[in-house]
Order: sequence, then structure tokens, then C-alpha cells
Amino acid sequence: GDRGERPQARRRLVERGRSRACEGLHGGRAGGAPVKRVFVLGNATVDCVQTVARLPVPGETLLCDSLERCPGGKGLNQAIACARTGAATVLAAPLGGDRDGAVLATAASAEANLEARWIASSAPTDYSAIWVASDGENMIVSSAEAARALTEAGALDALADFAAGDVLLMQGNLDRDVTVAACRLAAARGGLRVLNTAPIAWDMAGALPLFDLVVANAVEAATLVGGAPHAAAQALSSAPGRAAVVTLGAEGAILSAEGATTRVAAPAVSAVDTAGAGDVLVGVLVGRLAQGAPLKPALALGIAAASLAVTRRGTVPSFPTRDELARLQA
Ligand code: ADP
Repeated sequence: GDRGERPQARRRLVERGRSRACEGLHGGRAGGAPVKRVFVLGNATVDCVQTVARLPVPGETLLCDSLERCPGGKGLNQAIACARTGAATVLAAPLGGDRDGAVLATAASAEANLEARWIASSAPTDYSAIWVASDGENMIVSSAEAARALTEAGALDALADFAAGDVLLMQGNLDRDVTVAACRLAAARGGLRVLNTAPIAWDMAGALPLFDLVVANAVEAATLVGGAPHAAAQALSSAPGRAAVVTLGAEGAILSAEGATTRVAAPAVSAVDTAGAGDVLVGVLVGRLAQGAPLKPALALGIAAASLAVTRRGTVPSFPTRDELARLQA
């Protein structure tokens, strides 16, 4: 059942921060220690971003000010943000055999620290229609044919070399059974499991206990466990060893772990496009965790990176580079 994982695995998130903090005091990681990897199992899409003066109302046709097509999808976005922290990152994502698929494969191959494991799909490559208004608000509708066609066998095959201490990061785009099976594999191998609850496309509440760290935005948190963000963060992290982050847009995020709940503020910026902001936060947070950072500073860097991304247009094109992340961290 859902309670099959060992208590030791539950405590790993907390111990990880502690033991690495000690390593830091003693001069860093011992030579020859195996490199921990982040496996991002999720979707990849082509994003069609139209910039509009304001969002349309039902029945209305608007002309856009600009049109851009770029790689996207929560899986690909978070894998790119993660890889840019310097973490060794594997993206496992379904991909159609069409031209959009080739565009995504080319984009991913240009990223340092990112190994893309494309899972061939007979479905068309997934696609997101994104409208971004001049005040930064957005509306997004995504197709999920390739994501939905991914089978448990295909997903588990892509995680074949997942090892103890590796981190599995997933989102809501894949089917429940695939998500749960991958999570169980990571648990059985002694890995850390992180779930970003976007989008809520199936009954996610029942699967939450399988994960060590849950990252939800305020709307998702309210949908999953109810209550205001602070209480929701506590509810999402209620089991021993569990942690939760609830993001609050311009207000930053709430972190709940080890019985303590704190808000980490976001820098004041002028937001022009918030699409992909949550993905930057999650990818950077998990990338830093995999490199041994404790939760709070890892989240603080994720927030700083997301707040930089919202000042620029586009999804992946707005993401901080490796150098920018290094400067934010300094
Ligand atoms: P999502 O985009 O997934 O719904 P949020 O809106 O909570 O998630 O935003 C995620 C993160 O992006 C925030 O924690 C913050 O770091 C950053 N962010 C989003 N909007 C703003 C903003 N207006 N000003 C500064 N930072 C922002």
C-alpha cells in the first residue's frame, strides 16, 4: 500500500541537510563520493506564448503584440532550472516523433549538466497555448497526449539507474499510476522524492504521503488540504521527516519542516511575466538540495531565481543562467 516506505527514508530529508552542514564545517565532501543526480520525470511541451494588452473575455478575439515559440512543460522547465544550479540532472520525458519533438530535443541538448532521456511516444508532442497580459497575468491551456500515453514500464525503464541518494522530482502532468510507480521505485532505492503539485489533474491528495517534499502554490495547497497557506504548509508536512513549501507569488513562500513554519520573502521586483516562475523555484530548490544544501537556503535561492525570472518575458528564455544563479547565491 501507500505506506510501504521505510521510516529511515522519511527522515532522510532532514538528515541530509544536517550531515551536509557538518561536511561543510569539515571542509566539504570527501573525495570520490558518488555524484547524486536529480531525475526529473515529467512532461516537455512546445510553448506558444502570445503577449496581449489584457487577457481576453469569453467570446472575444484579440490581436497579440508578439508571438514566441519556445521549449516548455513543467518537466523540461524544472530540469533546465535544476541543471543550471550545477546539479547533475536527468530529464525523463515522453516525446512525439514530430517536428516539435525534434525542436525540444535540440533545445535540451544545448543545456550543460542535463541528460535528456526521451521516451518515444506515438502521440503528438505536447503543446501549451500561453497568453501573457501587460500586467504579467497569464492563462495557459496545455495538451497532454504524449504525457498521458507514457506507461509505467516506459517511466521505470528511464529510471533504471536511479540509485540511493538520488532525487526524483515529479509534477502532476503524468498519470497517477505512473507517478506512484516511479515514486515507489525511488523509495525502494533509498532516494528522496519531491512532488510539485502542478497541475492537479488527478486525486493527488492520496499520493502526497509518498513524498518527502511537496511544493504547491497557494491555490494548489488550498485545493489539496484546505486552509490558509500557513496552515496548509503545516498540513502538507505533517508526517515526521516530511517538508512542504507553499509559494505565495510576490510574497515568496512558506517553508514547513521539522515542526517549524517560516516565510521566506521574495525580493521586490517589477513582474512582467510570471509564467514558469514556479518551475524555476522548484528546479533550483531541488538542484541545491541534491548538492547538499539545507532546505531553507535552497528555497531562498529558488525564490531569488524565480523573482529574477518574472522580470523577463518567456518561460525558459526568462530563466537565470548558471552565472546568474552563482551571483544570486553569493
Ligand atoms: P506559480 O507561478 O507556480 O503559481 P507563484 O505565483 O507562487 O507560483 O510564484 C512562484 C515564485 O515566483 C514566488 O515564490 C516568487 O519567488 C516568484 N514570483 C512570482 N510572482 C512574483 C512577483 N510578482 N514578484 C516577485 N516574485 C514573484
